[in-house]
Amino acid sequence: MRLIDTHTHLDFPDFDADRARLLANAAARGVERMVVLGVYQANFQRVWALAGAEPGLYAALGLHPVYLEQHRPEHLQQLREWLERLRGDPRLCAVGEFGLDYYLEHLDKARQQALFEAQLQMACDFQLPALLHVRRSHAQVIATLKRYKPARAGVVHAFAGSYEEAREYIKLGFRLGLGGAATWPQALRLRKTLARLPLDSVVLETDAPDMAPAMFPGVRNSPEHLPEIAGALAQVMGVEAGELAAASTRNACELFGW
Ligand SMILES: [Zn+2]
Repeated sequence: MRLIDTHTHLDFPDFDADRARLLANAAARGVERMVVLGVYQANFQRVWALAGAEPGLYAALGLHPVYLEQHRPEHLQQLREWLERLRGDPRLCAVGEFGLDYYLEHLDKARQQALFEAQLQMACDFQLPALLHVRRSHAQVIATLKRYKPARAGVVHAFAGSYEEAREYIKLGFRLGLGGAATWPQALRLRKTLARLPLDSVVLETDAPDMAPAMFPGVRNSPEHLPEIAGALAQVMGVEAGELAAASTRNACELFGW
C-alpha cells in the first residue's frame, strides 16, 4: 500500500526523541511522502530545515488561526519573503496551515478573515495549493474561496462538514482531507457523509501528533498509523483499502504536482 500523509506537524517537539525511527518505520509501512505544515512564524525555519534534511518530507508554510494572538503584521510580510525565496523549490509544496476557526470563540473573526485572505492571495500569487483549517466556518470559507478562486485549489484538512459543504469544495477544485476523526464509531454524521464522497475528492492525513484514530486512542498520532486509518476509512466508504490508498495517493500527487 502506497500512502501519502498530507497533513502532519512532525516538527513539533513531541517527535524529538524518536523522529528518525518514526520516519523509517512510516516509510517501511508504505507512507512515501509526508507534508509538514508551519503554523506560526517561529516554526518556519524548523519546518523548512526538516523538509530539507529528510527524503519524503515536504514543507508548507502558513499562519494558523488558532495562534492568532502570536501573529504580528510583519509575519505576513515574512511569509511572503519565505515564499519568494523558495519559489520553484520542489520541497515547498503549499501555503498552509491557515483558515478560519469559529469554534474557539475568543478568536476575533475580523482579524482571522484578514489573515485568511492575505494568505489566500499568496496561494494565488505563488500558484501554490492552500492547505486549510476550517472549523465551524464552512459557509464563510466557501464564500471567500468563491471570490479568490485559487487556481491550484488545495485541501480542507480534517474535513468534518456536511455532504452539501463537501460538494461546494469539490466544485471549487478542493480535496477533502480525511484522517482519524471518521474512524470513531460515534462520528455518525461524518461517516455517513464519507460514504457519499467520490474517491477522486479525498486525500489522507494524520494531523500527527493530533487526531488520534479509534484504534490508537489517547496516544500521540503518527504517520506510521496511516495504513490502519486508511483501512478503517475504506470500510466507512464501502471500498477496498487498496482502492482508497491508490485514489488518495493519486489525488495528492495531482494536487502537489508529484
Ligand atoms: Zn494541522
